[in-house]
Amino acid sequence: MTRYATGRLASQMEVKRFLDANPIFAKSRTTKLHQSRIADLFSRPIYAGYLSHENWGLNLIPAKHEPLISYETFLAIQKRGAITAYAPTRKDLNEDFPLRGFVTCGHCDKPMTACWSKGRSAKYPYYLCDTKGCVDYRKSIRREKIEGDFETLLGELVPSANLFAMAFDMFRDIWNTRLESSEEEKRSMQRQLTQMDRKSTLLLDKLIDTNSSTVIAAYENKLREMEEQKTFLTEKISKCGQPLAPFEQVYRTAFEFLANPSKLWASERYEDKRAVLKLVFAQRLPYTRNEGYRTSKTSLPFKALEGLHLGKLEMVPPHGFEPRTY
Ligand SMILES: [Zn+2]
Repeated sequence: MTRYATGRLASQMEVKRFLDANPIFAKSRTTKLHQSRIADLFSRPIYAGYLSHENWGLNLIPAKHEPLISYETFLAIQKRGAITAYAPTRKDLNEDFPLRGFVTCGHCDKPMTACWSKGRSAKYPYYLCDTKGCVDYRKSIRREKIEGDFETLLGELVPSANLFAMAFDMFRDIWNTRLESSEEEKRSMQRQLTQMDRKSTLLLDKLIDTNSSTVIAAYENKLREMEEQKTFLTEKISKCGQPLAPFEQVYRTAFEFLANPSKLWASERYEDKRAVLKLVFAQRLPYTRNEGYRTSKTSLPFKALEGLHLGKLEMVPPHGFEPRTY
């Protein structure tokens, strides 16, 4: 669900597909998750570990069970739901062609396109150049061939010992900087929380003094809003300074990737494959029909390092390339 909140998965249907594809969810359910069930999942704060019951005057009391999603995620989902109306999704064609848009035509240097082509009894996947005037215009290349060549290329990437030493130093620096800045962030949020406590006490005093029902309602609304913000902050504070995984684990995972990017490419997930492209290659790869890839291999391993800069560090938890918080 965290993925949905961050906009990674564009719609509830995609979330459904994601859950369906995940063994953890498949195990507990014999049938696939129903769409309405997903919508239900997203609209109830109890899934974020909070109880909310208007009629009883209860509002966002932390429930006594492990939250399925964080309150932060819950709010983000509510916001998304409010903005984007439900639109039916179709299976994205791109997922069948992970190299689409990345591999360019060796003749004209424009990104290749891809398609399923109808044969007599079945459909076949192809990549092709779609630039009019190019000598390879509409001349198709079997997906198996172009992706197979890519796997070979990837398998040949061997990072140097020097690269590993550099990567280790970088990781340690990044890690330390992160810890320091998260401590600072935590202190700042604690100050905000104290301020809010003070404000809501003041508001409560005013509420007691007033007799007008409209004013009371307005105060109550404001108070509820503040309680929500406080819940949000409290949760953020509690998570602050807790790394997603221990340092050794994170760098081991990253180093395994540096040593062998082919492993991640072998993943079933489209996102994993695209991550490999982004992390390993500095630019698009030209491919010529009947010849193969044209590339200067020496520059490649260093691109992997660049991609592992600050913001991307969170992408390397133990299970794979994205934090799994469901
Ligand atoms: Zn071309």
